[in-house]
Amino acid sequence: MTSNADKGLLIVLSGPSGVGKGTVCSMLRKLAPELVYSVSATTRKPRAGETEGINYFFKSKEQFCSMIDKDELLEWAEYVGNCYGTPRSFVNETIHAGKDIILEIEVQGAMQVKQRFPEGVFVFLMPPSLGELRNRIENRGTETDDSIRSRLSVAAEEIRLLEHYDYAVVNDQVELACERIRSIITAEHCKRERIMPYVKSWMEEVR
Ligand code: 5GP
Repeated sequence: MTSNADKGLLIVLSGPSGVGKGTVCSMLRKLAPELVYSVSATTRKPRAGETEGINYFFKSKEQFCSMIDKDELLEWAEYVGNCYGTPRSFVNETIHAGKDIILEIEVQGAMQVKQRFPEGVFVFLMPPSLGELRNRIENRGTETDDSIRSRLSVAAEEIRLLEHYDYAVVNDQVELACERIRSIITAEHCKRERIMPYVKSWMEEVR
């Protein structure tokens, strides 16, 4: 049996909508090839340039519901009219193989993972300020004034969830945010609890 010390880390990267989780995760894929990236299932249609199995597994509503019924998803949530979920078996296989896996998901899903997998590492991506988050939402250019207001108030509610996370990373510059996330992962690997099982086995050997 694999002990916790041999397992990889499950890292959840989440945060309010508009904070830049997707951008940070894409940069992280380039900067941190040692991490495994969980590919989510979604009912949303592919955007230009997105590839099946790399960006998402694109599913019909029926296929997605069947994954829920068969308990194949570690978590799932509805976001702006589409469903998104994390396939459970790939996550389990990866961490049991001793590799670290990162899930880039919105906050409702992150809270489900927290309940089912409390030993995960929960990283909350923060905007540098509420004003900056507003700019980012406005600069998408797709929102009406009403929609900007409601997205901002949703984002403010989402920021309250920070208390359930282990770390807060400010996304002021994408590369810096990635470096902070990599430092967190390094620190997590150095935690006493992960090292103790090895030390205990050494002690047995010299007894
Ligand atoms: P997008 O449609 O822009 O790719 O993603 C929309 C939102 O869904 C983002 O906030 C992204 O983090 C989130 N998301 C992507 N995959 C998952 C998933 O598997 N589960 C959950 N809960 N959210 C996801």
